[in-house]
Formats: sequence, C-alpha cells, structure tokens
Amino acid sequence: MDAMTIRRTRGRGRLYDSILDTVGDTPVIRVNNLAPEGVRLYVKAEAFNPGASIKDRLALNIIEAAEKSGALTPGQTVVEATSGNTGIGLAMVCAQKGYPLVVTMADSFSVERRRLMRMLGARVVLTPRASKGTGMYMKAVELAEKHGWFLARQFETAANADIHEATTAREIIGDFAGDRLDYVVTGYGTGGTVTGLARVLRKERPETRIILTEPANAALIGSGIAQARGAGGAPAQSHPAFEPHPIQGWTPDFIPLVLQEALDNGGYDDLIPIAGADGIAWARKLAAHEGILTGISGGASFAVAMQIAEQAPPGTVILCMLPDTGERYLTTPLFEGIPENMDDEEMALSLSTPGYRMG
Ligand code: PMP
Repeated sequence: MDAMTIRRTRGRGRLYDSILDTVGDTPVIRVNNLAPEGVRLYVKAEAFNPGASIKDRLALNIIEAAEKSGALTPGQTVVEATSGNTGIGLAMVCAQKGYPLVVTMADSFSVERRRLMRMLGARVVLTPRASKGTGMYMKAVELAEKHGWFLARQFETAANADIHEATTAREIIGDFAGDRLDYVVTGYGTGGTVTGLARVLRKERPETRIILTEPANAALIGSGIAQARGAGGAPAQSHPAFEPHPIQGWTPDFIPLVLQEALDNGGYDDLIPIAGADGIAWARKLAAHEGILTGISGGASFAVAMQIAEQAPPGTVILCMLPDTGERYLTTPLFEGIPENMDDEEMALSLSTPGYRMG
C-alpha cells in the first residue's frame, strides 16, 4: 500500500490509570457477508472489554457500589456463584483492587474459565453439575455466611442492571444517534443486559423492538410459569421448565430477580426461542465469514437476529449483542470438529511443494 491508502491509527488520546478504566465503550460492528441484502445488521462486540466479556461491566459496578455503600470493606474476601464470565470480570477487578476472590462454579462449565480465574488470582470451588445453578449459588451463600465474606449477588443486585442502563444502553443510544434502530436482540443470564437496555430504550427509542431469546429446550419465560422466590428475591427452587443446554452464560435453572423487572415492565416485545445447535452453527459462521469470534450465546442471539433480518423489509437496522469471545470455548462443542492436526486438504498443500514437509 502506498502512503495515501495505508490505514493509520492515532491512539486513544489518553493514558489509562488502570485496567478498570478500559471497561465498556465496546464497538458496534457491521455484519457484511452474512447479512441479507438491504438490511443493516450490526453486532455489539463485548469481547473488546478487558476480561473479554460483557460481565466486566457489572463486576466493576458490583465492587464499586459495595465499596461506596460500605458493604465491602478493604481486604474483605468477595464470593460469587458464576458460570464464568462474571468470575473472570470479578477476578480482574479484585486483582486490581486487592480483594481476595472465591468463585463457586458448576463443574460443567468450560475449563478455560476456571483456569482464567485462577490465572487472575481467584480461587475456584467447583460444585456438582447435578445440583445445577441453584447448587453453585447456595454454595456461595453458605461460604459467605460461614466466613463473613461479601456475596456479590449478580442475580439480585441493583448494581447489575444499573450499569447496563448507565453504560451499555448509553453507548447504543450514542452510536445510533440520528440513525434507525429497529431491533435489538439479546438473551439473558442474569437479565442485567436486557433490563438495563429496556430502561433506556423504552424512553429514548420507543420504536426499537427489543427481542429476547432463550434456549428452546429451557424456555423458562416461554413456559409462563412464575419463579418461586425466597429471601431477597433469590430462587426458592429450580424452575420446572429448565433443562441443561449448551448456551453457557444463558438461562440458569431459575428466573433471576434482575430479569423479573424486564418481564414485569414490558421490557421486551418478542420472545424467540433458539436451539443450542443453531447458536453453535451461527457462531462458527460469524467467525469464518466475518472474522468475528463470539461464544455460543453470541451465536444464539445472532441466529435470532438472522431470522429477523431474513424477513425484514429493506432498510431495517438490527443490533445483536455478542456477550463474549469464541476463545473462551476451545474445549466446548463450539470447537468440536475443529481439528488440531492437518486434514487431507492441508496435507495435500504440504506435499505440493518440496520443502518442510511433516513426517
Ligand atoms: N452470554 C454469556 C456468555 C454470559 O456469560 C452472560 C452472563 N451470564 C450472558 C450472555 C447474559 O448476560 P446477562 O447476565 O446480562 O443477562
């Protein structure tokens, strides 16, 4: 490339005081090769957060809100039940701020999550997968009570949806200012993302349709069955519509209190279930055809966004949330069948020139 056409960068125009200041302000990126003609399809790539997921936002806010309220004291241990991304976010925040962290996690979640948390200085206490999300949650409660630790309570705390209202939603409002935005598509884990987005979009972009999605074989909201709750809105028992599903980070075996606000206040327009296999297939297509790595939940939201795009009139603008990166899933079904060794085609390429052949 000559000097006129080469891409140039200028830096961010600031020096960062800590890794924590790099959370948020993730890019909204156009999908070019997969989107149907005439529809503008965008993804908000939360993998650009320092811990590579959307959960960095609430991890930082839970800790800072607790510091402000006095619920967390200097040097006190933090404990939380998490499917991984919140734990990685909390581990990053706790490493920077000097709090010990203990994470409880069912042993069904990907091993790279455990190792990342331990790499970031956290301790990870595994719980049996048979006891599901409520098991790892109850273990965190037990540990907090026994040892006097600060329980982060991502499924109940106001600090969760508040940060999506203050950051994720504001970024979308800013980035789509003066432009159309017909649909926003997201799933739910805690429900923080959809609840925070709904608070802002309902007021400032009332024409935007909020599409919520959940696993087809664990359609908790779709079942219409209310969640039984105990003290503080925590689940009293596993939801009867739950079944294990491969969309890590989505739909625990209960309807979280944080999500309940969006359900009660009309925070979504349509609920579209999606099969885990479709999520995996679309995450692979996003990687191979757009160069965008996302996890199974991102692929699942994207599968729904593509369904909408395929039926939408020309000019429609759709935004799909991508909560994390595909690299977090190397040992999961997302990478199943992606080989380590050369296949026949690669071997033929190797043999097509004389030098540096294997074996
Ligand atoms: N996808 C992944 C991979 C996640 O870890 C989470 C959070 N558990 C979500 C989606 C859902 O986000 P939220 O908790 O804001 O509903």
